[in-house]
Amino acid sequence: MIAPERAKRPSDFVTAASVRTDSKLDCAFCEGGLAYKERLHGFENDEIYVIPNKFPAFVEDEKSLSARTTPDEGNFYTRKPSLGGHDVIVVKDHDLDLPHFNHRVWVEMFLMFQRRYDHFRKTVNALASVGIYNHLSPAGASIQHPHAQLMASNVIPNFIEKELHGAERWFETSGRCVFCALIEHELKEHVRVIYKSSLWVAFTFYAARFPFEIWVLPLDHHSRFEDAARADIDSLATCFTDVFQKLNTVLRNPPLNFYIHSIPNDITHADYYHWHIEITPRLSTYGGYELGSGMVIDVVSPEKAAEFLRAKK
Ligand SMILES: [Zn+2]
Ligand SMILES: [Zn+2]
Ligand SMILES: [Zn+2]
Repeated sequence: MIAPERAKRPSDFVTAASVRTDSKLDCAFCEGGLAYKERLHGFENDEIYVIPNKFPAFVEDEKSLSARTTPDEGNFYTRKPSLGGHDVIVVKDHDLDLPHFNHRVWVEMFLMFQRRYDHFRKTVNALASVGIYNHLSPAGASIQHPHAQLMASNVIPNFIEKELHGAERWFETSGRCVFCALIEHELKEHVRVIYKSSLWVAFTFYAARFPFEIWVLPLDHHSRFEDAARADIDSLATCFTDVFQKLNTVLRNPPLNFYIHSIPNDITHADYYHWHIEITPRLSTYGGYELGSGMVIDVVSPEKAAEFLRAKK
């Protein structure tokens, strides 16, 4: 639900959470720090290195599962060992905050995501990987040194599964990809589009779950993020630099998440699924109604959000 009578201006959302208080001196992720020493060989470039998460949600080795296994209770509940992998993808420069990542950081981060997606598909037979970024504590970041994460799992995550099924149903009735149709519609209406290049489009989402929610999609139909060519990644980095510059100008370094939705590994290619990235600024928290009803009240209309973002450069 969009509640325009409660409409706010972007300045109403600027919070103190955006101010960093951490120090480089005792930072585990900085060069020479405890985590840095655990970095994976062969998965490092000029801007990025990778470490296994110290408290993994999914583990590669079944032997390390014993302490995590839930009781079987006579198989009343469905359960499965949480196999897969959980990476922390660290940006080397401690002081570089997400709104200021340059083109090279974005390129190298996406290339590293792709390599780790491939790694988990080949080594632990992961069904699906989700690359994510939590920026600032209201968005779930516990360490302020800039870092992304990747969860690879032996199950298809619920939201990906829902998207797949919905997209498949749409395809059966209309004969086309719902995401391609969405792009065509957004470009025609042009009220929510905030960025477009020859390869990428970004727009605020029509049924936004968060104020200023943005979706980024490749203009051409591709199902799998890992297969994106170097030129596409280069161009995606340009798109991200622009989108985050806009968000930063309007909302002053807002807490946010982004996550990559790509087709699961057991499907090689699908005419109905189109990979994409969702960006969700975390300017409001869900209250009882959202949690109790599954309905979301958004106090900034996506059209108004796009207007604010387009006005700033
Ligand atoms: Zn650091
Ligand atoms: Zn498509
Ligand atoms: Zn999605």
